[in-house]
Amino acid sequence: MLPPIANRFVAGESPATALEHVRRLNERDIAGIVNHLGEHYDDHESVRADAAEYRALARDIAASDLQACISVKPSQLGLDLGEDLFRETVTNVVDAAAAEDVFVWIDMEDHTTTDATLDAFEELAREHEGGVGVCVQANLERTREDVERLADVPGKVRFVKGAYDEPADIAYRDGDQIDREYESLLEYAFERYDGGVAVGSHDPAMIEHAIDCHERYGTDFEIQMLMGVREDAQNDLAAEYPVYQYVPYGNRWKSYFYRRLTERTGNVRFALRALLDR
Ligand code: FAD
Repeated sequence: MLPPIANRFVAGESPATALEHVRRLNERDIAGIVNHLGEHYDDHESVRADAAEYRALARDIAASDLQACISVKPSQLGLDLGEDLFRETVTNVVDAAAAEDVFVWIDMEDHTTTDATLDAFEELAREHEGGVGVCVQANLERTREDVERLADVPGKVRFVKGAYDEPADIAYRDGDQIDREYESLLEYAFERYDGGVAVGSHDPAMIEHAIDCHERYGTDFEIQMLMGVREDAQNDLAAEYPVYQYVPYGNRWKSYFYRRLTERTGNVRFALRALLDR
């Protein structure tokens, strides 16, 4: 069972608890991006099981009146076992979700997966016009070209700073430089894209920049944040802009929870307080 301390960042272990969390989010005018936790599978059985989980999740979302979409990880859908398996599995999940009119995001993992992920996204986005999105990372030098390539592809693009520790010869490693790159990529997207710009950041400066771009170019956009992070800001922003919360669930919650705890001293303090209050 999920310990109460992890509840801040993870919406339980079952799809029902995740959708119940989304229902409460919808009451705050925030939509949900539901992710079944899992990554780097090295066996076909786990890949098949998670694909089935996402197909069922799409059916459950469609059968509800919830504002929700889903987000998948390439290595969860077989990329570590080969690009062919990943293509087959992600196509299968996206086809099933599209049949239910449920939007699918494809998360971006480390740089060794970027080409395979973008190729799969581009093919699926052209087939299911408007039904698929992909994430791009400002810390990778290649991303500027990728963002230009995606300008003519239907669907949405989520801009993030990048969560993976990438080598210095292909990535920006200085925080300020990543911020400037992030702002510059947003500027390009707001100016050139027809819409579908997703700002996946908790950084007030990046969100302010996105709002400024939106006001200058009029391009549709949405703000995306993680469950348990800057929830007050999510509420405030939702009064004016489309806001989505990334809602992870499942029994593989430990590594995700520890990542959230260790990325910020404030989160460690929160955990210690919760433990002392028990
Ligand atoms: P940071 O650079 O971490 O922080 C900047 C400022 O934001 C801080 O100074 C503070 O003012 C504020 N802030 C940040 N965190 C907090 C907090 N916990 N509490 C209060 N204030 C805070 N990465 C990938 O590589 N691939 C993905 O597919 C991917 N998907 C994502 C989806 C979503 C919806 C989000 C929100 C992030 C995703 N990420 C992904 C992670 C992303 O790459 C960053 O690692 C992560 O968001 C941290 O960067 P940041 O822009 O939020 O701000």
